[in-house]
Amino acid sequence: MFWYSNWGASFLFFFNSLDKPPLRRNISLKAARLEHVRVLTAPLTFQQHLSLQEAQQLSLTSQKDRLLWKWTTHGNFTTASAYKHLVSAGKTDTPFFFLWKIKVPPSLKLFLLLLARGRLLTQEQLLKRNLVCPQGCVLCNDNCCEPALHLFFNCPYSDSIWRSLGFQVSGMPPEASLQEKFLAVFSPACSQQRRMSLISTTFWTIWFERNNRTFRQQARPIGAVQQWIINESTIFMKCC
Ligand SMILES: [Zn+2]
Repeated sequence: MFWYSNWGASFLFFFNSLDKPPLRRNISLKAARLEHVRVLTAPLTFQQHLSLQEAQQLSLTSQKDRLLWKWTTHGNFTTASAYKHLVSAGKTDTPFFFLWKIKVPPSLKLFLLLLARGRLLTQEQLLKRNLVCPQGCVLCNDNCCEPALHLFFNCPYSDSIWRSLGFQVSGMPPEASLQEKFLAVFSPACSQQRRMSLISTTFWTIWFERNNRTFRQQARPIGAVQQWIINESTIFMKCC
């Protein structure tokens, strides 16, 4: 099993690049070490030398190889340990780390991450994947291919929603990227959970409104959408 993992496979590649008898995948780790490490007399590159050092530091037992999850003491995978690892402070350098702390449902956090990474399936993204779809912004009837930048920041309809809630998104530099604008909306509010939740719910609702108009031919006036955002974010603050 070890030899089929990413780490083991790269190790196998390293051994077999040394002009020695090739290593079989069904060999045990202990046998591999005995058979091959002792015949490594050729000059090694620095990277090969480091890999060899790693191999020699392995503690081997007579037990069969098995996969271990390193984030639990018992070695078995749990979703709780994976979540704890992902959200533990200082373990990641992503600029979107703060999203996981906002008081909104997990599905909304995932939506925000997809949006921030430019992975939301807007018409622009569908066209990039050669999928046929109707073109044009259903919120303002603009004849664009619905890039996320337009949908959430430059669209007059979305701008009206942001304004009705006291946010300014249209004043940002036009050359700013989607990620820059996304982070700029959140940055002044990072210490305020109420505003963070409101901003998140606004993004979510613009997408929800877009989907309602695209797939159900249902449209709501801005006043109703504004009230819906306020109510939903209030509920999220209490329940999440
Ligand atoms: Zn629009």
